[in-house]
Amino acid sequence: MPGVIDLRSDTVTQPTPEMRRAIAEAVVGDEQKREDPTVTLLQDRVAALLGQEAAVFVPTATMANQIALKLHGRPGEVLLAEEHSHVLVYEYGGVAAHAGLMTLGLRGSGGRISPEQLRAAAAPSTKAADQRVTVLSLENTHNNAGGRVWPLAELDEVVSTARELELGVHLDGARLLNASAALGVEPAEIASRFDTVTLCLSKGLGCPLGALLAGSRELIDSAWREKHLFGGAMRQAGIVAAAGVYALDHHVERLADDNARARALAEALAVAGVPVDLDQVETNFVQIDVAPLGLERGDALVRLRDAGVGLSATIHPTVIRAVTHLEITDDDVGRAAELIPGALLAGVRA
Ligand SMILES: *Cc1c(COP(=O)(O)O)cnc(C)c1O
Repeated sequence: MPGVIDLRSDTVTQPTPEMRRAIAEAVVGDEQKREDPTVTLLQDRVAALLGQEAAVFVPTATMANQIALKLHGRPGEVLLAEEHSHVLVYEYGGVAAHAGLMTLGLRGSGGRISPEQLRAAAAPSTKAADQRVTVLSLENTHNNAGGRVWPLAELDEVVSTARELELGVHLDGARLLNASAALGVEPAEIASRFDTVTLCLSKGLGCPLGALLAGSRELIDSAWREKHLFGGAMRQAGIVAAAGVYALDHHVERLADDNARARALAEALAVAGVPVDLDQVETNFVQIDVAPLGLERGDALVRLRDAGVGLSATIHPTVIRAVTHLEITDDDVGRAAELIPGALLAGVRA
């Protein structure tokens, strides 16, 4: 979207010139034979960052989630997840297609579910023929809830309940590093509690593509086999992994800036009279409900685009979102804070 402040998603970023240089200079080998030193380095770095024994590089976070859930569940077993989570909404029923899992979506609050909900859904039954819940997937930050963060104490309760119920626990941490920046804790503090963790490189980290699945050495060994089955075993993949290594060195600390810029934008919008729930702005998303303005979301997005600012739709029919990322500066936020009210409030119902 040239000439437009592009707040549609943190996936819109282009590799920076420095990242492109790292890509160009990458030392590479045959990844499938585990001979690509840059891939190996990235995997080791991410395993350490997440407090897990090992990690495997895959092309997308979707593939990382799909592999993880397949490792945790057998056909006919049940996956529990918050009803609007990425694994249930945006992965084309992959867990049914790939893992043969049934799914049970639990209604969350801010993308979070409670130990009581978990217990009610997964309590062992007395009837041998009943469905068997074996896997829990949590999301942090939670995309469809607007980038919401799990408080650590709440996460602990749910994960320990899941362990009591003997479930495998997966974290879809595509934007985990935005969560750790928001909480001011090391990523491992959050991620080490899980059996498997997905981390996406193409969101706030600004890489062109790529993701990692981390877990115990044993699980990640099995993940390598699944990755091959998915067609995800690559060759000189260090070309892409180099962007990931570069991002770990240069784009992690700055995620706090994205979170702060979203906060600044949200506050300015609220002051201008745009319907934003400030309590929900915890990371790099700002969600705007256009219903109180008497607007349809499609109209709202066109008005915004015409005014020079790109926002995007969400799963909620009247809610649109602005997402900050590494190409968005303080200046952009200042301009967006004027353009958005100008576009949304002009000539609407007073
Ligand atoms: C974007 C996203 C994914 C998938 O990432 P891809 O690399 O695009 O496949 C998975 N989970 C969450 C929460 C996401 O936001």
